Amino acid sequence: MADIFQRNITRVSRNIIAAVGVCIRPNRVNLVRRLLCCATLYLGSTLVVASDDYIRELEEPFDCDKTVGSEPAKVFEQMQAMDETGLSPVQLAQKNYCSASAMLMLTYPGQAVEFIEVALSHISEQSQPWLFHVIQILNSQAAEMSGEPSQALELINPTLTWAINNNDKSMEMSALQHRGLSKIGLGDYLGALQDLNLAYSMADEDNDEAKVSIGSYLAMVYEYRDEFDLAIPYFQQAVNYYRGTGNALNLSVALYGLGYAFAKQGKYSLAQETLHESLRKAQSIDDEQGVAYAKKELAYINIQNSNFALAEKQLTEAQVSAEKSDNPFLTMGVNRNLAALYLAIGNIGAAEQANEQARALVDMTDMPVDYLELEKQKASLSAARGYYKAAYETILHVLDEKLVLMREQSANQLLQIRAQYELQTKEKENQLLQEINSEAEAELQTQRSHNVNLLLLLATAGIICILLAYITIRNQEVKRKLQQMADLDGLTGVPNRRRTMELIGNQLSLARRHNYPLSVGIIDLDNFKSINDNFGHPTGDRVLEAFGLVLRQNMRATDIIGRIGGEEFIVALPHTDTETAYTVIDQLRLKAHKVPALIEDYRFDVSFSCGLCDGAAMKDMSELMARADSALYVAKHSGRDRIAMSGSGNYRRQTMPEAG
Ligand code: GH3
Ligand code: MG
Ligand code: MG
Repeated sequence: MADIFQRNITRVSRNIIAAVGVCIRPNRVNLVRRLLCCATLYLGSTLVVASDDYIRELEEPFDCDKTVGSEPAKVFEQMQAMDETGLSPVQLAQKNYCSASAMLMLTYPGQAVEFIEVALSHISEQSQPWLFHVIQILNSQAAEMSGEPSQALELINPTLTWAINNNDKSMEMSALQHRGLSKIGLGDYLGALQDLNLAYSMADEDNDEAKVSIGSYLAMVYEYRDEFDLAIPYFQQAVNYYRGTGNALNLSVALYGLGYAFAKQGKYSLAQETLHESLRKAQSIDDEQGVAYAKKELAYINIQNSNFALAEKQLTEAQVSAEKSDNPFLTMGVNRNLAALYLAIGNIGAAEQANEQARALVDMTDMPVDYLELEKQKASLSAARGYYKAAYETILHVLDEKLVLMREQSANQLLQIRAQYELQTKEKENQLLQEINSEAEAELQTQRSHNVNLLLLLATAGIICILLAYITIRNQEVKRKLQQMADLDGLTGVPNRRRTMELIGNQLSLARRHNYPLSVGIIDLDNFKSINDNFGHPTGDRVLEAFGLVLRQNMRATDIIGRIGGEEFIVALPHTDTETAYTVIDQLRLKAHKVPALIEDYRFDVSFSCGLCDGAAMKDMSELMARADSALYVAKHSGRDRIAMSGSGNYRRQTMPEAG
């Protein structure tokens, strides 16, 4: 841990108290004042022009940010001399803001707070949010300077939130920088680094002032953490910048920081060169404080190089300069180095004295790290005197205190890490939940479309099935109709010749095989030609049609009927002997007489002749047809309108003529 380097780092919050009263003289400025000055300066210089009904930049003649850094006393005098009559509340707030800002530059935080309170009495956060928060930044600075880093943190947080919510990048950057400063004061270096790095990244590429200002804070934190490699680039940046602006005081401060870091890295010649330049710059502007810091550090290097005489000379001179500059913290550091020197050369008495003087200027509460370093030194001195028990006890005490300190710091860091971890876990959980939700949603969607597709498929399949069934049924019907058309006679609706012969052929085989009777009669309408001739062919058709109907209505379902010629029909009666068949056909004969009545045309008579034979007795269809035909011939020639039976049968009617 850095033990000297108080000029630059000065334990910002705690040591500033010691520096109060010192820094009011323009040539005695400490780093914090310079840093604060820069911070305020870039805040004021990068403000956005007002577009709302509240102000977003300081109005003339209160635009003091640009001048307060270099001439705080002048700004303060101007503000005090100003007549307040006729000033609006917003103007009064700005006037007091400038006074407070000047007081802070002059390191009077207590007085600054008084002006801040007056400024805040004229406006509210609601009426002038931007101005309110700009004043709050000063308020936080004042708390920081008064050694109240936790209060400073509380004050700056709402302002940072406001800046983020209102997209005020300039104020956000400034608030982050000041929060970083508060965290340095609280020993929360990790948190400070986070804020400062963020602020640094927000600074515009061409805003060197801001970069140097924030960079100086970053360098300070890195030095606290003994990370000199990381600190050096920021100091170099500052050195380059101040070489360009020609600001001897700031250049001296930056060179000191750089030299100190080199020394800590063991790069002694580089460190000496840099520290000598810092010394010369400080001497050129009578900056006693700067002189003391540089000599103290040069002496440190000489102690390391065992140039004790030169180191003693430099430290003695530094002591004088430190006392002149009235900076007790600096004086403490010089005395501590003196004690180290005397210890190294074996002058224990002088070492004890220097250590006592140093320890009188610090305490455990305000400056724990430095206090413990001095205690450790005291233990070494006791050991050098041979008071090993005392040395041992002191070392134990130092270790205990260090442990407590480290525990506090690591507890803070742990809390932060945990908070961050919890936040990240929450975010991850939320993200996961969202992913799960959207996945479920997508799955549901897919399921839905699958269902719809399935339904469509099923519906289509159903429709296809119905269509197929319909087509099949329809085909069968068509087929049946076609079959019917092929088998039936179109005019009379009875089977045609081909079909009838087929059916009778089948029956004939069955009758012969099973030995049952089958009577077959050929029917021929009488004198049909004359109906055609006398009343027209259509009338003949109607007669045929009506006779077909008579046949269908009067024969049994098991009987076979059919049209085998123009006006020639056939009937076959299975399981019926010729005698019974004769009776049946004779009934039919009488029905034929009723055809004119059926067609309501009484201009002619309708009758038929029939040749009947015993089918089962025939050997085949041709014999059967021939016998029936012969019987028909007989019927025709016996006078028509009668039934004649085939000659060989036993069934004859006396009244009926006999066929040959
Ligand atoms: P018969 O008593 O000797 O049988 O005398 P017929 O006049 O009935 O006999 P024929 O064989 O001389 O005449 C049959 C007639 O039947 C001849 C033909 O014009 C008629 N005919 C045949 N088929 C049809 C038909 O489908 N429609 C009509 N209107 N007449 C038909
Ligand atoms: Mg005929
Ligand atoms: Mg005829």
